[in-house]
Amino acid sequence: MNQVTSTEKAQQPPASPPHLPSAVFEELEIVRDPSNLFHQTIEQVLIAAEHVGMRHHQKIILAQPKNEIMVHFPVLMDDGHHALFKGYRVQHNNALGPYKGGIRFHPHVSLDDVKSLAVLMTMKCSLVKVPYGGGKGGVKCNPRELSTEELKRVTRRFCAAISNQIGPDYDIPAPDVGTNSQIMAWFADTYQLMMPEHTRQDTHRIVTGKPVEMGGSVGREKATGQGLVDVLKEMLPELGIDVAKCRFSLIGFGNVGGWTGRLLCELGATLAAVLDHTGAIHNDKGIDAEALTTHVAETGGVGGFHDAESISTEEFYGLELDVLVPAALEQMITSKEAALINARVVAEGANAPTTPEGDAVLIQRGIEILPAILCNAGGVTVSYFEWVQNKTSTVWSGEDIDERLNTHMILAARRVKLAAVKYECDMRTASYCAALEQIAKVYDLRGVFP
Ligand code: GLU
Repeated sequence: MNQVTSTEKAQQPPASPPHLPSAVFEELEIVRDPSNLFHQTIEQVLIAAEHVGMRHHQKIILAQPKNEIMVHFPVLMDDGHHALFKGYRVQHNNALGPYKGGIRFHPHVSLDDVKSLAVLMTMKCSLVKVPYGGGKGGVKCNPRELSTEELKRVTRRFCAAISNQIGPDYDIPAPDVGTNSQIMAWFADTYQLMMPEHTRQDTHRIVTGKPVEMGGSVGREKATGQGLVDVLKEMLPELGIDVAKCRFSLIGFGNVGGWTGRLLCELGATLAAVLDHTGAIHNDKGIDAEALTTHVAETGGVGGFHDAESISTEEFYGLELDVLVPAALEQMITSKEAALINARVVAEGANAPTTPEGDAVLIQRGIEILPAILCNAGGVTVSYFEWVQNKTSTVWSGEDIDERLNTHMILAARRVKLAAVKYECDMRTASYCAALEQIAKVYDLRGVFP
């Protein structure tokens, strides 16, 4: 039934000749810098594009974002002076739907990092089959050093600065590193007040990850952690690991790390160690994730937790474990850390936590990498559920959300496994292949205007 007839074959445009990533870089005049996260990300995507036989013009479209918005805006600080802030919104691709992706508040936010995170959103949304494209934003600031009032003013001015470039059916931000539901509430309020009064009712859809009382979805806060646990349940048994008995460690104990830790401990797993910006802690008998959450809320980090010993970073990576979950920032696992890691599986909760050199060492050492665009796609999936609930004025139950999320995550995990077999490649490349198959198909159907 599915066979392609000779007439159909003749109607298909000829496939592009193979182009290596370097040819695309050259054509777009990108001078490749091996330590640049955007270049690393594009290169990995282009390698996957080779596997799926993507047409050349589609590759060059994906190798650059559609829009890169950079803004500078003044904010009144508590001491009476005005500070100038730099913000970004990168809209990478919207072939599958509106641009979608978080807003990050962090001192190291840079254009190239935001660009690569936007690419990853395009890939993630396609892989998990939510009808969105990819975007990302950020403000270069240290939220830990801002008072609540300063944080509110930074959020409102940033929203005002980009308000005519985003929209509830065009580009929909969400929380990311350094931002949360309170920041989304301020963002939505500012955006709504800037719109004509008669259009305001529905415009809280401008962001997802809002507080539940303001139209946020039940289950959005835990969604990334929950999605990661769903992926582990699908993938670990095949690697001979029982999720309920596994021993794991976390890098980062923010939203993603914290929820992953608590949810896995609820299943019976043992949290052996955690590393964050305040140090590394270890307890062979298991760290109480709930008690650690209270400690982190009170002190700002895992360091000094009473029921664990403090260990060095080298000792942290060297612990013999089933699973290591990097759930903090990008590029944390370089070849150095990869050479130390003694876990059987690295499940990437953060975006792009492993460098290409780190990847190579892990693969060579036989450590399985469960890639980020699969493992952390639960957040954007429940963001989509929130957006649909807002659009249809409905409220779904927690059980309903969990079930729907589980379906998206399991199907995405299976797509990655199938792609790994089909294209005979590692899981990361397979995750990009699975994502690109759909994007390529859509571009084939739409063509390029005019
Ligand atoms: N910032 C999250 C991510 O990187 C969530 C994005 C969203 O919900 O739009 O996936």
